[in-house]
Amino acid sequence: MNILMVAPPGAGKGTQATRLAERYGIEHLASGDLLRHELAAGTTLGAAAKDYVERGDLVPDDLVMRLVLDRALVAAKHGGYVLDGFPRNRQQAEAAYAMTGQDEDLTLDAVVHLAVARDELRRRMLARASAGGRSDDQAAVIDHRLEVYDCQTEPLLDYYRDRGLLLTVDGERPIDEVTEGLFDVLDGVRAARHPADSRHPAR
Ligand code: ADP
Repeated sequence: MNILMVAPPGAGKGTQATRLAERYGIEHLASGDLLRHELAAGTTLGAAAKDYVERGDLVPDDLVMRLVLDRALVAAKHGGYVLDGFPRNRQQAEAAYAMTGQDEDLTLDAVVHLAVARDELRRRMLARASAGGRSDDQAAVIDHRLEVYDCQTEPLLDYYRDRGLLLTVDGERPIDEVTEGLFDVLDGVRAARHPADSRHPAR
């Protein structure tokens, strides 16, 4: 199974993606985590990405794609992936699509959108900040990340809806209920597209 998560910052992508990875035996690839790892390790790529991440801007496409695409290709050959935080704009989506070519293992099965209202997103990110979380969870940077999402990432929902891949789940419910909602819709996708895998529901 190959799954993308497209949702605003604070919507719970990371939490839910971890659970999807476990259930479907696929790899969780989070572009933000990969970038923060590069920053912490002080790599050249991390140094090039640092200012963008701290401002809440998108990191240039070529840097992110270098981190994500090869890993996604490998994961796709080993059962699949859930990509969290990538693609985040139309160019990234098209580059990813171009790369998949005609290879069936690489085809996307579903794009998951977690719908959460703006006030709730802000509240969650500020709560994460006061719990000692990320340096980009400050009020001004949070607002900027939400604007970047609206301008650059949200338009991807139509792109994937037009391709018949978009599944929207209410992300404001309690965490376990969101997970159940996702399992419900994605179990259906798996049964339709990968019937052999669905015969092993223990995962
Ligand atoms: P969130 O979605 O909660 O804001 P992430 O952990 O997904 O957080 O991303 C943190 C930051 O990493 C983003 O604000 C951005 O600077 C950078 N980033 C992550 N994924 C991408 C991407 N696909 N393209 C460009 N920048 C990205």
